[in-house]
Amino acid sequence: MSFDFDLLVIGAGSGGVRAARFAAGFGARVAIVESRYLGGTCVNVGCVPKKLLVYGAHYHEDFTQAAGFGWTLSEQQFDWATLIANKNREIERLNGIYRNLLVGSGVTLLEGHGRLRDEHSVEVAGQVYRARHILIATGGWPQIPDIPGKELAITSNEAFFLPALPRRVLVVGGGYIAVEFASIFQGLGARTSLLYRGELFLRGFDQSVRLHLKEELSKKGLDLQFNSDIRRIERQADGSLLATLNDGRELATDCVFYATGRRPMLDDLGLENVDIQLDARGFIQVNERYETSTPSILALGDVIGGMALTPVALAEGMAVARRLFKPEEYRPVDYQNIPTAVFSLPNVATVGLTEEQARAAGHTLNIYESRFRPMKLTLTDCQERSLMKLVVDAETDRVLGCHMVGGEAGEILQGIAIAIKAGATKRIFDETIGIHPTAAEEFVTMRAPI
Ligand code: FAD
Ligand code: NDP
Repeated sequence: MSFDFDLLVIGAGSGGVRAARFAAGFGARVAIVESRYLGGTCVNVGCVPKKLLVYGAHYHEDFTQAAGFGWTLSEQQFDWATLIANKNREIERLNGIYRNLLVGSGVTLLEGHGRLRDEHSVEVAGQVYRARHILIATGGWPQIPDIPGKELAITSNEAFFLPALPRRVLVVGGGYIAVEFASIFQGLGARTSLLYRGELFLRGFDQSVRLHLKEELSKKGLDLQFNSDIRRIERQADGSLLATLNDGRELATDCVFYATGRRPMLDDLGLENVDIQLDARGFIQVNERYETSTPSILALGDVIGGMALTPVALAEGMAVARRLFKPEEYRPVDYQNIPTAVFSLPNVATVGLTEEQARAAGHTLNIYESRFRPMKLTLTDCQERSLMKLVVDAETDRVLGCHMVGGEAGEILQGIAIAIKAGATKRIFDETIGIHPTAAEEFVTMRAPI
């Protein structure tokens, strides 16, 4: 059987690009199909633009706090259009870098929508390409519950391109995107409410972290409404929106932003032409080799419904490229102790088990917790407090989990994640000399369990 390519990847996002580039580097003939934007969600409507907006939102606090250090600033003004234009320019630069990376690695770039024809062929812009292996890396897409007026709401996809910063925003959801965007809108000056259907947002995170973040966000004036959900949205005569909640309350706003999870992107992928099993939630089911029920077709990243994080998609892309084309270097992805951050203001970061997970797994625990006002804030009126927490197995002394709410938590936890992966005990944390004066040194100076 003759093939045009050894590997044809559908989707030039985090996972697809990584798999394509490395496979080509290992000598395979590779093509990648992309219908929308090079770099995928992360680069265009995810991690990167989100982090730029978070930086933008943090300036608000920086300016206020600067007064405590003797700085006087003239009137603060924020211009959304400038931030968005600068962000767009940076994303275009990154798109160009991705193009060069792909082409420079010898990958054939096929611009258009990819559609499966059979277990070895994909149609792009009217042409059919045959490949020994096909990799589906089509990512995910925001989903809004089916309520009357849902077409009046936006998702993260649109938020990055709003023509103006809304005066009032209702954010719906209690996961990563809801919490991050609530901080962004609030920080940039919109009157922001976050509506979450459950008791407390960030389900699955450590309870101390969830409670601490709730307090800190409330202190900043974010209106947190738990046990709340929208029943319908209507446009008012003056152009504003009216959201009616399940309990009958009505909230007037200028923007309803839904962050209620993401579905796999399988639209018009030609799944009817091949035998590919989906799981109960509709994501593509794969085995430990990322093979679908048709072994010549593989899938990875958000479309397989694991942890939807760019570094996870990258690791899976690398594993697929190695297994297919450099098996002697193949190592399976280690899904244990994946660190993650929520870039709210303040940040949350976490690695390993929560206290609740560790107890449920039968561990006897020593818990270390520290709450403090960061030194940087002592000359300011800001009353923000940080939280650091270690979950330690009392019998083995191993640090099972590490959690933080506070400035630069993501930056701090990346290093701690290496220690946890290496199996560090609390004693090793204790014997590590701190870097003084930093907030991070708190992780090696907590002595008494609570
Ligand atoms: P994607 O990056 O989504 O790429 C899929 C690509 O496939 C897209 O370019 C799409 O256009 C293309 N495509 C789809 N169907 C077809 C088709 N039929 N033909 C051709 N092309 C097709 N993760 C983090 O680790 N840190 C963060 O801070 C973070 N922030 C995020 C913020 C937001 C708002 C969002 C939405 C996500 C965030 N994520 C973050 C998650 C991260 O973006 C994803 O986990 C990651 O992008 C998944 O990579 P992927 O390769 O699976 O898919
Ligand atoms: P999440 O799955 O994180 O959160 C979805 C939220 O929406 C949950 O609070 C969920 O509630 C709620 N929800 C779900 N369905 C409904 C509904 N029908 N009505 C009301 N509320 C609902 O999804 P996100 O959209 O926030 O983000 C998608 C993924 O992208 C994340 O899980 C993460 O993997 C990734 N991401 C990573 C980031 C990072 O690394 N910093 C940043 C942004 C995204 P409940 O908890 O009750 O189910």
